[in-house]
Amino acid sequence: MSSRLTVPPVTSDTARTWVEVDLGRIAANVGALRKRLPDDTSILMTVKADAYGHGLVAVSRAALEAGVWGLGVAALSEARILRRERIDGPIVCLMPILPGEAADAVALDVVPAVTTWEQAEALAAAARSAGRRLPVHVEVDTGMGRAGVRDEDAAALVLRIHNELQGLILDGIFTHFASADEADSSFTEHQLDRFDALLEALADRGVRPARVHAANSAAALRFRRAARAVVRPGIALYGATGEIATGGDAGWRGDDVFEPALSWHARVVTVKTLAAGDAVSYHRRYVAAGAERIAVLAVGYGDGWPFPLSNRGHVLLRGRSTPIRGAVCMDLTMVDATPFPDLEAGEVATLIGRQGEERQGVEDVGREAGLMSYAVLTGIGSRVPRLYLGTDRT
Ligand SMILES: *Cc1c(COP(=O)(O)O)cnc(C)c1O
Repeated sequence: MSSRLTVPPVTSDTARTWVEVDLGRIAANVGALRKRLPDDTSILMTVKADAYGHGLVAVSRAALEAGVWGLGVAALSEARILRRERIDGPIVCLMPILPGEAADAVALDVVPAVTTWEQAEALAAAARSAGRRLPVHVEVDTGMGRAGVRDEDAAALVLRIHNELQGLILDGIFTHFASADEADSSFTEHQLDRFDALLEALADRGVRPARVHAANSAAALRFRRAARAVVRPGIALYGATGEIATGGDAGWRGDDVFEPALSWHARVVTVKTLAAGDAVSYHRRYVAAGAERIAVLAVGYGDGWPFPLSNRGHVLLRGRSTPIRGAVCMDLTMVDATPFPDLEAGEVATLIGRQGEERQGVEDVGREAGLMSYAVLTGIGSRVPRLYLGTDRT
């Protein structure tokens, strides 16, 4: 990606810090996953939380063009943005809707997750009053311990929806893994056993929802058994598989297949020289041992650059990794520039991505900040403009 790094001109929008998203890379990641799945398995790409910080609308368009079946959101507000932008592909709302949201779900033509009888009834009533039938996906809790009807109650709920409710189409059924990314796969196997027992019990009663899904990125990469009619990956398609354990029977590794779509940069606003004993930033947590150069970068925790990187994280500058000095501030971060005596304001530091041969992945930032990659990516603030490569649309 470094070869294509576009350093934008200093305008009021792109002076301080920006994120570059390569939509061609998202499309390539979708293609790479597609190639490794059974032909009849379709992809529901999770684009919740502003497409993991990459930009909901641009990523959703690129993903649909690249052949994903549908988009997974967490909230109807996300579906509304997509519909407003005239994205008319299938949208599955993976988190349960709240009382009062049923009419919106129908109006936005969302496929909602159903986890209780009350939700099903409200959705059926809203669909009937709109004069249509709404496809729904029942979420089953096989051990995640989050949303989803508990699996011992799931058959009864599904059969009741199937038999009693006018207005709904039982289009899908899904479960979610608690630890598919961990080396020990036994709990994932256990969840799949419980899910399969339920599917069998339903099939015995003549109920076979078309779209069965379970696999997040980690499960889709690692376990053949987890890929059903649909897979439901997010993080892998953004190219951030660095925290997923290897192993499993599928025989391929995320790092060999997917590449990061996002890089994050910030400009040097000023450079100064410290004398021995001079301190840097709030609470004077870094004190210079001798004459040192410090570069002040125009990025801070107000942009989502994690505060815990204070005095411990790194950035790439002139193709080299250089340490953060002192506390990360809301708008500024100080880094060691002693090796670069001629460094100037306006030069670009890379927070996530490549410079020359050096790479700092989102997982590296996460490790130093004590955060998962997911949290680093979704934490990138709305103040940071997203610049898109690989398309003429933003
Ligand atoms: C976020 C989410 C996913 C995607 O998980 P990844 O680890 O990013 O692949 C899939 N399913 C559900 C229900 C989710 O909440």
